[in-house]
Amino acid sequence: MSLDCTAGSTMGRLEGKVIVLTAAAQGIGRASALAFAREGAKVIATDINESKLQELENYRGIQTRVLDVTKKRQIDQFASEIERIDVLFNVAGFVHHGTILDCEEKDWDFSMNLNVRSMYLMIKAFLPKMLAQKSGNIINMSSVASSIKGVENRCVYSATKAAVIGLTKSVAADFIQQGIRCNCVCPGTVDTPSLQERIQAGDNPEEALKAFLNRQKTGRFASAEEVALLCVYLASDESAYVTGNPVIIDGGWSL
Ligand code: NAD
Repeated sequence: MSLDCTAGSTMGRLEGKVIVLTAAAQGIGRASALAFAREGAKVIATDINESKLQELENYRGIQTRVLDVTKKRQIDQFASEIERIDVLFNVAGFVHHGTILDCEEKDWDFSMNLNVRSMYLMIKAFLPKMLAQKSGNIINMSSVASSIKGVENRCVYSATKAAVIGLTKSVAADFIQQGIRCNCVCPGTVDTPSLQERIQAGDNPEEALKAFLNRQKTGRFASAEEVALLCVYLASDESAYVTGNPVIIDGGWSL
């Protein structure tokens, strides 16, 4: 493999790569779909939110497909339609607010299902194609709220994101010799529509915003675009020697 680092080269860093990602209609998924396309990838952007997803059709290099990542049959059907895949980016996830005492069984099951089982289903559906190609790259969305850092009121969320780290390391270890690598991204607090919803959800959004900002050592949130740039690196051949890693991007929150 040779990397094109020639000064003045117009080649994108992801030229020719087919990238499938979930939860692409907003937030980090959307920013990543746009960043991947800018770098020359052929992006297949999926989400359950059809209307928001369709906005991405306006960008060169992006095609969209409605996909609910909790539905095995939909995932298997989708995988059967895809001929080649270089990068699978599992983004979908939900933040449940509360301690273990606030987390009912239905909340536990919902989060485990959306945040972890979905990645198990997606990887199981797409890995055989990567193995047949003798190359593949999987990126999973975790969080520093996981096995990395204890965070208040993030009980089931942290349990799911720690599971994502375990899943990532396991897949990386099992398939490293078959040309597959697998990493996960562990952001701190990222300014996305769902973060804004969490801020607005309580009785005092102003206080909630202050509390969220107070826990940032940099005094600000990450932008979705900043996280997307890390994902471009992980999706590209520049990171060919990186596998099995929870890659932290948290402005020092976990220090
Ligand atoms: P978001 O929460 O604003 O958007 C989530 C997207 O997921 C939406 O477009 C929604 O339609 C889609 N979605 C929901 N259920 C789905 C399903 N069943 N199938 C397919 N798509 C579905 O996005 P975000 O805040 O950028 O979060 C994306 C990921 O990043 C999540 O896994 C989240 O846990 C993780 N993360 C976010 C932050 C943050 O501060 N925002 C921090 C660390 C990790």
